[in-house]
Amino acid sequence: TGTPVTVIGLGLMGQALAGAFLKAGHPTTVWNRTTSKADQLVAQGARLAPTVGDALKAASLAIICVTDYQAMHELLGSGVELDGTMLINLTSGDSAQARDAARWAEQRGARYLDGAIMAVPPAIGTAEAVILHSGPQPDFEAHKSTLDALGTATYLGADPGLASLYDVAGLAMMWSVLNAWLQGTALLRTAGVDAATYAPFAQQMATGVAGWLPGYAEQIDSGSFPAEVSALETDARAMEHLIAESEAVGVNAEWPKLMKAMADRSIAAGHGGEQYPVLIEEFGKPRGA
Ligand code: NDP
Repeated sequence: TGTPVTVIGLGLMGQALAGAFLKAGHPTTVWNRTTSKADQLVAQGARLAPTVGDALKAASLAIICVTDYQAMHELLGSGVELDGTMLINLTSGDSAQARDAARWAEQRGARYLDGAIMAVPPAIGTAEAVILHSGPQPDFEAHKSTLDALGTATYLGADPGLASLYDVAGLAMMWSVLNAWLQGTALLRTAGVDAATYAPFAQQMATGVAGWLPGYAEQIDSGSFPAEVSALETDARAMEHLIAESEAVGVNAEWPKLMKAMADRSIAAGHGGEQYPVLIEEFGKPRGA
């Protein structure tokens, strides 16, 4: 049998986490505020702890996954013994909440890793479910083989805020790709091209552009942006085409205008002859600063 584990919080995600541990043969103790959410897991062999404190004592590793950090603090606040616990918090939140929670856990005598789940509950237990972790590396290494039951356990670094930062950075990527695709789809529909016809072309574009990232990242890290393939001015002129076309065919032009405004500020600051990633200077500060 595997290492005993505890799962606290049995919402949609917590149930999936506990189910994956059971499936992988880990003796699994569970606890949830609403006890009935444990029924199915208990039928599959989980042990329901009478209190959250008992749940923490049942295993050397406890995963918590509740709505938000406030719920976690309410649940594990005063009166619950955390001393000696290894707590992995897979609740979504921001990096400041994660760093605060790491300090809070340390003061209570617990070891703490923060985490972010980049997957939906049905994917939990498959390699497709990437789960990000940050905090002390020895704690991650000690529990990695257990965490592998949940998906692809990934370690990012010692700063406990990293998992949350990668989480939101990933969301920025997701929505940006989707918005770009929707803009193009809206344009093409005005010419009778349906979304399904355009989608494979869009996918090819997104994949192609994604391939540029590692090279462009080198420019950002070195702080030098030679225009090897095109200058920002050239991009900005093409943005004008996108805006003009959107307006001419009567689709929304807000998003292209926002991109153009950022490029224009960078050009005004003297970067028109440099390559696109020089825009990091606009992204890296509050608007107009
Ligand atoms: P649910 O709404 O299904 O479950 C919420 C859980 O939090 C329940 O167990 C609930 O208990 C518990 N809870 C909330 N407030 C309190 C409180 N004050 N005291 C005790 N328990 C509390 O949410 P999910 O399971 O879907 O999500 C949980 C976390 O996982 C969130 O942070 C979410 O962002 C993250 N996540 C979810 C994904 C998803 O696709 N579902 C994807 C990636 C991350 P009770 O049952 O008693 O109400």
